[in-house]
This record gives sequence, structure tokens and C-alpha cells, in this order.
Amino acid sequence: MARDPATAPRARPREVVHLTDLDDAALCAVVEACGGLPFQARQLAHWIYVHGAEDLAQCRNLPAALRASLGAAGHVLRSTRRLHETASDDGTRKLLLGLADGETVETVLIPEGERNTLCISTQVGCPVGCVFCASGLGGVKRNLGCGEIVEQVLHGRALLAPGARLTNLVVMGMGEPLLNLRNLLPALERIHDPAGIHLGARRITVSTSGLPERMREFAAAPHAYNLAVSLHAADDALRRRLVPTARAPVAAIVAAALEYFRTKGREVTFEVVLLAGVNDRPEDAAALVRVLGHQPCTVNLIPWNPVEEIAGYARPADAQVDGFAERLRTGGVKVTVRRQRGADRDAACGQLRLRGPDGSRRTG
Ligand code: SAH
Ligand code: SF4
Repeated sequence: MARDPATAPRARPREVVHLTDLDDAALCAVVEACGGLPFQARQLAHWIYVHGAEDLAQCRNLPAALRASLGAAGHVLRSTRRLHETASDDGTRKLLLGLADGETVETVLIPEGERNTLCISTQVGCPVGCVFCASGLGGVKRNLGCGEIVEQVLHGRALLAPGARLTNLVVMGMGEPLLNLRNLLPALERIHDPAGIHLGARRITVSTSGLPERMREFAAAPHAYNLAVSLHAADDALRRRLVPTARAPVAAIVAAALEYFRTKGREVTFEVVLLAGVNDRPEDAAALVRVLGHQPCTVNLIPWNPVEEIAGYARPADAQVDGFAERLRTGGVKVTVRRQRGADRDAACGQLRLRGPDGSRRTG
């Protein structure tokens, strides 16, 4: 008897499995379920992470029948695609990637001599809402999945000249990485894997807006990644003005950072975005010295990169930044100053934002 189409069970939509979301064991299970063998799962991983294959058809040493059955089961090698690329005068290149659900995310490659640093994002938008940052302007839409994080590295690496290597990874793009540890940790595992992308833990830095409990969770990860903590001010009231959603007091953030050093043996970097007349005054330097003087850490000063929609702040003059740095050094704090890269193309720190698929600006 023919069924009424309104009540007939509908075929479930085919579920696309993004292979970059899977760890080795899950990838092996997928390959076996499609009639393959464990060594073929390793070959497939080699194609994805070493050769950067984007399509099953490129995996030439896998039997055609296995490729066909993986494809028929809805498995794809990439969930993201390059939508747009912008190059800055200083060589910085920014990629806009399209995600499967139509959202977008930005990734920045920063070449400096032999060093090629990639800056990746962990969320679509950011919930923290620091008053000086473009990434939080529209709030957060969602976390990125493990594969969406890893694929930024695959896309970024593909921009390199033949023979050049990706030397450093900074998780400093859009989003608060420690609010997405569930996907970030397996992604870093993939990026670190010597049989795959193979980037050493010492070359990987994760930057957080300062969440002590999450910093402890991050310390429990199997590898000693570098941790950077965006402090901005050592005075609680001023810090709360700059990072309005911050709950933890400065003392708790600094304690968790020093604990990270004791657990992992990696000195933490404290980032301070300098805003003229707001947190670059002598008393701001003195407060930082009181908290960080003679501690095993470095302070990285980042003169603010302007953001069009954010009024009321200014980037301090170079002489002001130098004077601030000198006060910290005199107080026993190691200091570096971050040179601005990619600012002419909105690719510098804090200039990554939600965008439309054509790269146009979107704030919500
Ligand atoms: N959410 C994380 C990581 C991404 S932001 C964090 O806040 O640490 C990476 C760095 O860029 C942070 O230190 C952040 O304070 C800084 N930043 C944000 N907006 C900026 C801007 N407009 N100019 C300069 N640095 C900025
Ligand atoms: Fe989010 Fe970091 Fe920007 Fe703050 S500085 S809004 S935590 S991305």
C-alpha cells in the first residue's frame, strides 16, 4: 500500500563527517567501517595532515573502492574553504575561511625572515568583550570545532613558499581559546603530532583573557605549550573597565599563571595592550611592577591597534611606550614590545572580526 507522503518516514539527511574532527582511533574506525584497514587510516591521515590533501581523489595510494565508499558515507577531508585572501604591505597575509554552516573565521600568516607565524581563531566572535578589541564587538556566535581549528593551520601552511616551514603558531585570533578547551586540546594534539603537522609544543602559544580555573585545566594537557595571559592592568578596577566580563581578581590570575610555570616549566608572558592615558601612566607601570617584579615571566607591551568602531581610545606615542617599558625594566620586569603587523589590512592583534562571506565587515 502506498504511504501518504505526509506521514512516510523521511530519509535522514546524510550526515557529513569532517575527518579533521577525528582523532587517530576514530579515523581508523571510520576507515574500517568503509572496508579499509588500519594502515590505510594512517595513509589517509598522512594525506590530510602532511600533504594537505583537500579531496579524497588526491589520496592516490588509497584503493579507489575505499575512496568511493568513504565518499558515499559522507566523509570529507575539509569542512572549511578559502573565501578571500588579503596581503599587507609588510608581507602579512590574512585568510577568510568559510565554515560549513555559512559562518566565517579569519587566520593570519606573519612571515618574518626565517620565522613564519600563524595566528588562528578558536571561536566565531568572542564573548569576553574587551573594550578595545574588534573580535568581541558582535558577541560570540559559537565555538569552532576541532577540525575547524586544525584546518586553519592546513590553509595557512599552504600559503608558504615551497620549502618554507611553519615555525610558530599563536592562538591569538578571534575568540577566547580557554572557553573552547574541549575542541582546542584535541586540535593542538593534531597540530603537535609528529606523524602529521608536527609543530613542537614550544612553538605553540595560547593566549587567554585570564581565566584561572581554565588555566589550570590547560596545565593538565599532556604537552607544555606556551601560555600568554592578557593582563592589561594590575589594578582590579582598571582591569574590570577594560575587560568588563572579567570575574577573577588580578592576584588570582597571576597566581594561576605562576602555577602554570611551576607545573609546565614554561614562563608565562603577560600581554598589556597600551591605551594612551588609560593604562600607560607611571602609576600603571608601578602597579605592574608590584605584582610582576622579579617573577619568572615576561611582559609583552602591545600598543593599541585602532579599530574603526571603537571611539575614545588612542595608541600611545612610541616614546610613551618606551618610557613605560623602561619603568617596568627598572622594577625588575622582563619586557618586549610587539611590533605592529598587518594593520593596513585589519590583520593586526585585535583587528580580527566577524565578516560576511565576501570579507565585508559585520558586527553582529
Ligand atoms: N582572547 C585571547 C586571545 C585573542 S586576543 C586574549 O584576549 O588573550 C590576542 C591579543 O590581542 C590579546 O592580548 C588582546 O588583548 C590583544 N588585542 C585585542 N585587541 C587589540 C587591539 N585593538 N590592539 C592591540 N592588541 C589587541
Ligand atoms: Fe576576546 Fe581576546 Fe578580543 Fe578580549 S581581546 S574581546 S578576550 S579576542
